[in-house]
Amino acid sequence: MARTTIIAGNWKMNKTAAEGQALVEALKPLVAGADAEVVVCPPFTTLAAVVAAAAGSKVKVGAQNVHWAANGAFTGEVSAEMLRDAGAEYVIIGHSERRQYFGETDATVNQRLKAALAAGLKPMVCIGETLEEREGNRTEAVIDTQVKGGFAGLTPEQMANLVIAYEPVWAIGTGKTATPAMAQETHAYIRKVVGQLFGPAAAAGVRIQYGGSMKPDNAKELLSQPDIDGGLIGGASLKATDFAAIVIPKG
Ligand code: PEP
Repeated sequence: MARTTIIAGNWKMNKTAAEGQALVEALKPLVAGADAEVVVCPPFTTLAAVVAAAAGSKVKVGAQNVHWAANGAFTGEVSAEMLRDAGAEYVIIGHSERRQYFGETDATVNQRLKAALAAGLKPMVCIGETLEEREGNRTEAVIDTQVKGGFAGLTPEQMANLVIAYEPVWAIGTGKTATPAMAQETHAYIRKVVGQLFGPAAAAGVRIQYGGSMKPDNAKELLSQPDIDGGLIGGASLKATDFAAIVIPKG
């Protein structure tokens, strides 16, 4: 089954509305001819401006988090319906920074994921091991737990249409990238676990992005691996030319 490459930029806590608009205006002509799906994920306050700037272009827009409740007393949170209302089509769930700094667990990832799917958002769910876990040979056990817990209760069809971002925590924002062979090995393992839990159609359909210091000079090799279906890009997504060079690699 052919899987369309998906390259998403996670702007994290960067860019005002005006800065986000300018970035998208610069990006639009650079990615107009891309074969890949192109997504940018600005902060909540920048969403509406970026949606307006991206309208009618190749650039799609996502949020960086979503709450599981429809509304209510959850100070500081934003619901799936609110994200849809602001024009978001995608949402990142369970980023390692949220797991590390904001107490995100596989159980809350699962709740957020179900709310996102119910509202028609397209989730990109992040999983991945820490350096300590990799060095302790626990990468596969961590993946097992995160996939079982994070995706519990989903149907095979939902899984087949989902995007998973494999982001080894030790490679995020550190300049250390998993080698293409190392990333491919873990991506293949994730696909195998999805197959065991949800069946072969889900395994064949699910798209697995790599994230962790992906840049113009290493993207092509990573993206040419058979089980790497895209990228989730942090730092390099903040500059239009760098992000575009990942979306449309040269050479
Ligand atoms: C990320 O935050 O999802 C990420 C992959 O960051 P960076 O590309 O900066 O490592």
